[in-house]
Amino acid sequence: MANYTESIEKLIENLVKLPGIGRRSAERIVSYILGASKEDARNLSDGIIKVKESVRFCNLCHNLSEEEFCKICKDPRRQKDIICIVEKPSDVTAIEKSGSFAGVYHVLLGAISPLEGKGPGDLKIDTLIKRIKDSQIKEIIIATDADTEGETTALYLTKIIKPLGVRLSRIGLGLPVGSNLEYADSTTLSKSLEARRDI
Ligand SMILES: [Zn+2]
Repeated sequence: MANYTESIEKLIENLVKLPGIGRRSAERIVSYILGASKEDARNLSDGIIKVKESVRFCNLCHNLSEEEFCKICKDPRRQKDIICIVEKPSDVTAIEKSGSFAGVYHVLLGAISPLEGKGPGDLKIDTLIKRIKDSQIKEIIIATDADTEGETTALYLTKIIKPLGVRLSRIGLGLPVGSNLEYADSTTLSKSLEARRDI
Protein backbone atom coordinates (compact mmCIF):
# COMPACT_ATOMS: atom_id res chain seq x y z
CA MET A 1 0.00 0.00 0.00
CA ALA A 2 1.47 3.30 -1.07
CA ASN A 3 2.06 6.07 1.41
CA TYR A 4 -0.80 8.36 0.46
CA THR A 5 -2.64 10.87 2.57
CA GLU A 6 -6.38 10.67 2.94
CA SER A 7 -7.14 13.41 0.41
CA ILE A 8 -4.79 11.90 -2.18
CA GLU A 9 -6.38 8.50 -1.73
CA LYS A 10 -9.84 10.08 -2.16
CA LEU A 11 -8.78 11.89 -5.36
CA ILE A 12 -7.34 8.67 -6.80
CA GLU A 13 -10.61 6.91 -6.00
CA ASN A 14 -12.52 9.54 -7.95
CA LEU A 15 -10.10 9.62 -10.87
CA VAL A 16 -10.30 5.87 -11.49
CA LYS A 17 -14.04 6.33 -12.11
CA LEU A 18 -13.12 8.21 -15.30
CA PRO A 19 -13.14 6.22 -18.57
CA GLY A 20 -9.72 4.89 -19.51
CA ILE A 21 -8.12 5.83 -16.19
CA GLY A 22 -6.67 3.00 -14.15
CA ARG A 23 -4.96 3.30 -10.79
CA ARG A 24 -1.53 3.89 -12.34
CA SER A 25 -2.79 6.76 -14.49
CA ALA A 26 -4.68 8.21 -11.54
CA GLU A 27 -1.47 8.22 -9.51
CA ARG A 28 0.35 10.00 -12.33
CA ILE A 29 -2.40 12.63 -12.55
CA VAL A 30 -2.23 13.21 -8.81
CA SER A 31 1.52 13.56 -8.96
CA TYR A 32 1.09 16.12 -11.78
CA ILE A 33 -1.47 18.04 -9.70
CA LEU A 34 0.82 18.04 -6.67
CA GLY A 35 3.56 19.56 -8.80
CA ALA A 36 1.31 22.05 -10.62
CA SER A 37 0.67 25.62 -9.53
CA LYS A 38 -2.32 26.34 -7.35
CA GLU A 39 -3.79 28.29 -10.27
CA ASP A 40 -3.57 25.36 -12.69
CA ALA A 41 -5.14 23.06 -10.12
CA ARG A 42 -7.96 25.53 -9.53
CA ASN A 43 -8.55 25.99 -13.29
CA LEU A 44 -8.92 22.24 -13.61
CA SER A 45 -11.40 21.86 -10.77
CA ASP A 46 -13.33 25.01 -11.75
CA GLY A 47 -13.45 23.76 -15.33
CA ILE A 48 -15.14 20.54 -14.25
CA ILE A 49 -17.80 22.41 -12.25
CA LYS A 50 -18.32 24.96 -15.06
CA VAL A 51 -18.95 22.23 -17.62
CA LYS A 52 -21.46 20.56 -15.31
CA GLU A 53 -23.27 23.80 -14.61
CA SER A 54 -23.35 25.42 -18.01
CA VAL A 55 -23.48 22.68 -20.63
CA ARG A 56 -26.93 21.58 -21.72
CA PHE A 57 -28.53 20.20 -24.85
CA CYS A 58 -29.44 22.34 -27.87
CA ASN A 59 -33.20 22.94 -28.01
CA LEU A 60 -33.34 22.02 -31.67
CA CYS A 61 -30.80 19.26 -32.36
CA HIS A 62 -29.83 18.07 -28.81
CA ASN A 63 -26.14 18.59 -29.45
CA LEU A 64 -24.13 19.99 -26.53
CA SER A 65 -24.55 23.71 -26.07
CA GLU A 66 -24.20 26.49 -23.53
CA GLU A 67 -27.13 28.42 -24.96
CA GLU A 68 -30.63 27.65 -26.19
CA PHE A 69 -29.26 26.66 -29.61
CA CYS A 70 -25.86 25.14 -30.38
CA LYS A 71 -23.16 26.75 -32.51
CA ILE A 72 -23.99 24.57 -35.52
CA CYS A 73 -27.73 25.36 -35.47
CA LYS A 74 -26.92 29.07 -35.13
CA ASP A 75 -24.36 29.13 -37.94
CA PRO A 76 -25.92 30.87 -40.99
CA ARG A 77 -23.48 29.08 -43.32
CA ARG A 78 -24.83 25.64 -42.48
CA GLN A 79 -27.32 24.05 -44.83
CA LYS A 80 -30.43 23.80 -42.68
CA ASP A 81 -32.30 21.50 -45.07
CA ILE A 82 -29.93 18.54 -44.70
CA ILE A 83 -30.07 16.75 -41.37
CA CYS A 84 -27.57 14.11 -40.30
CA ILE A 85 -28.95 11.86 -37.55
CA VAL A 86 -26.40 10.60 -35.02
CA GLU A 87 -26.60 8.81 -31.68
CA LYS A 88 -24.55 11.10 -29.47
CA PRO A 89 -22.80 14.48 -29.30
CA SER A 90 -19.36 12.84 -29.68
CA ASP A 91 -20.50 11.62 -33.14
CA VAL A 92 -21.14 15.24 -34.12
CA THR A 93 -17.59 16.04 -33.00
CA ALA A 94 -16.19 13.18 -35.12
CA ILE A 95 -18.06 14.25 -38.27
CA GLU A 96 -17.18 17.91 -37.70
CA LYS A 97 -13.49 16.93 -37.45
CA SER A 98 -13.77 15.28 -40.86
CA GLY A 99 -14.98 18.61 -42.26
CA SER A 100 -17.10 16.82 -44.83
CA PHE A 101 -20.60 17.80 -43.79
CA ALA A 102 -22.16 21.23 -44.24
CA GLY A 103 -25.67 20.46 -43.02
CA VAL A 104 -27.08 20.30 -39.50
CA TYR A 105 -27.53 17.44 -37.05
CA HIS A 106 -30.10 15.70 -34.96
CA VAL A 107 -28.70 13.90 -31.93
CA LEU A 108 -30.91 11.05 -30.73
CA LEU A 109 -29.14 10.81 -27.36
CA GLY A 110 -28.97 7.04 -27.56
CA ALA A 111 -29.90 4.06 -29.72
CA ILE A 112 -32.62 1.44 -29.60
CA SER A 113 -31.38 -1.41 -27.42
CA PRO A 114 -33.86 -4.07 -26.30
CA LEU A 115 -31.14 -5.59 -24.12
CA GLU A 116 -30.83 -2.38 -22.14
CA GLY A 117 -34.56 -1.80 -22.22
CA LYS A 118 -34.17 1.24 -24.46
CA GLY A 119 -36.97 1.79 -26.95
CA PRO A 120 -37.78 4.51 -29.50
CA GLY A 121 -39.61 6.47 -26.79
CA ASP A 122 -36.33 6.94 -24.93
CA LEU A 123 -34.72 8.68 -27.90
CA LYS A 124 -35.21 12.17 -29.33
CA ILE A 125 -37.35 10.93 -32.20
CA ASP A 126 -40.51 13.00 -31.60
CA THR A 127 -38.57 16.23 -31.97
CA LEU A 128 -36.95 14.87 -35.14
CA ILE A 129 -40.30 14.13 -36.77
CA LYS A 130 -41.55 17.58 -35.76
CA ARG A 131 -38.45 19.15 -37.35
CA ILE A 132 -39.00 17.25 -40.58
CA LYS A 133 -42.66 18.25 -40.72
CA ASP A 134 -42.16 21.89 -39.69
CA SER A 135 -39.27 22.85 -41.94
CA GLN A 136 -38.40 22.32 -45.57
CA ILE A 137 -36.01 19.40 -45.18
CA LYS A 138 -34.42 18.15 -48.41
CA GLU A 139 -32.46 15.20 -47.14
CA ILE A 140 -31.99 13.09 -44.04
CA ILE A 141 -28.79 11.10 -43.58
CA ILE A 142 -28.89 8.34 -40.99
CA ALA A 143 -25.46 8.10 -39.39
CA THR A 144 -26.09 5.80 -36.44
CA ASP A 145 -23.34 3.34 -35.47
CA ALA A 146 -22.65 0.22 -37.53
CA ASP A 147 -23.41 -2.07 -34.54
CA THR A 148 -26.63 -3.93 -33.73
CA GLU A 149 -28.20 -1.03 -31.80
CA GLY A 150 -27.27 1.45 -34.52
CA GLU A 151 -28.69 -0.75 -37.30
CA THR A 152 -31.89 -1.41 -35.33
CA THR A 153 -32.29 2.33 -34.83
CA ALA A 154 -31.63 3.01 -38.53
CA LEU A 155 -34.30 0.46 -39.52
CA TYR A 156 -36.82 2.00 -37.18
CA LEU A 157 -36.06 5.52 -38.41
CA THR A 158 -36.38 4.41 -42.04
CA LYS A 159 -39.81 3.00 -41.31
CA ILE A 160 -41.11 6.24 -39.81
CA ILE A 161 -39.30 8.80 -41.98
CA LYS A 162 -39.86 7.13 -45.35
CA PRO A 163 -43.62 7.95 -45.45
CA LEU A 164 -42.80 11.64 -44.95
CA GLY A 165 -41.52 11.81 -48.52
CA VAL A 166 -38.06 13.16 -47.74
CA ARG A 167 -34.88 11.92 -49.43
CA LEU A 168 -33.40 9.43 -46.99
CA SER A 169 -29.92 7.96 -47.00
CA ARG A 170 -27.68 5.84 -44.78
CA ILE A 171 -23.93 6.11 -44.37
CA GLY A 172 -22.06 2.90 -43.78
CA LEU A 173 -19.68 2.18 -46.61
CA GLY A 174 -16.18 1.92 -45.22
CA LEU A 175 -17.35 1.72 -41.65
CA PRO A 176 -16.48 -1.74 -40.33
CA VAL A 177 -19.47 -3.75 -39.14
CA GLY A 178 -19.96 -3.34 -35.41
CA SER A 179 -17.97 -0.13 -35.29
CA ASN A 180 -18.69 3.08 -33.45
CA LEU A 181 -18.85 6.22 -35.54
CA GLU A 182 -17.05 8.36 -32.98
CA TYR A 183 -13.90 6.21 -33.29
CA ALA A 184 -13.78 6.27 -37.10
CA ASP A 185 -11.02 8.37 -38.61
CA SER A 186 -11.83 11.51 -40.60
CA THR A 187 -11.04 10.02 -44.02
CA THR A 188 -13.29 7.02 -43.42
CA LEU A 189 -16.08 9.30 -42.22
CA SER A 190 -15.74 11.61 -45.23
CA LYS A 191 -15.86 8.69 -47.64
CA SER A 192 -18.72 7.14 -45.76
CA LEU A 193 -20.75 10.35 -45.98
CA GLU A 194 -19.92 10.83 -49.64
CA ALA A 195 -20.88 7.27 -50.48
CA ARG A 196 -24.18 7.36 -48.61
CA ARG A 197 -26.86 5.35 -50.30
CA ASP A 198 -30.52 6.19 -50.67
CA ILE A 199 -32.91 4.00 -48.74
ZN1 LIG B 1 -28.28 22.48 -32.35
